[in-house]
Amino acid sequence: MTRTGIGYDVHQLVTGRKLILGGVEIPHDRGLDGHSDADALIHAIADALLGAAGLEDIGFYFPNTDPRWKDQPSRVFLEQIRGLLHRQRAQIVNVDATLICEAPKIKPHIPAMKAAIAAALAVTPAQIGIKATTNETLGFVGRQEGIAAMAVANLEMAGGNISP
Ligand SMILES: [Zn+2]
Repeated sequence: MTRTGIGYDVHQLVTGRKLILGGVEIPHDRGLDGHSDADALIHAIADALLGAAGLEDIGFYFPNTDPRWKDQPSRVFLEQIRGLLHRQRAQIVNVDATLICEAPKIKPHIPAMKAAIAAALAVTPAQIGIKATTNETLGFVGRQEGIAAMAVANLEMAGGNISP
C-alpha cells in the first residue's frame, strides 16, 4: 500500500544566523531563526514523511524545548525518521518539495540539497525532488521576512500495517 504525506514549514529570516536549507549552507546576509538550524525545507520533508507513515509530527519527536536538538543540523531529524520508518516497515518511494524564497537564488544549490537529503534518508537523489520559487514580492516571503517550504512524501508500507 502506498501512502502520501504532506508537510509545511516556515521560519523567520534574522541577522546573525547561517542560512541552512536542505542540509546545505547558502551564502546570505541572514539566516533562519529557530531552535535547531531552522532548515525549513528539511522540516517540511520530515513532516511529510511522518504524516505518510501515520506518525506524530516533527514537534512531537524533536520538541524545541529539548536541549538535544538545540543548534543541531536538521539532517539528524531525517536520520532519526529513517529509523522510525524502518520500524514501520515503510519504504520511501519519493519526496517532492518546493521552497518559497525571494532571495537568495536557490537553484545552484539544489543538486547539493538533493544529495544531502538522499544521504540522510538512505535513498538515491533521484527519489528527491526539490524546486524553488519566489512569492513574486508578495507577503512575508516577498518582503524577505521568512522562507517557507512545502513537501509531499510517498511511502510503500509493507502489509499496509500502521502501528503507533
Ligand atoms: Zn521548522
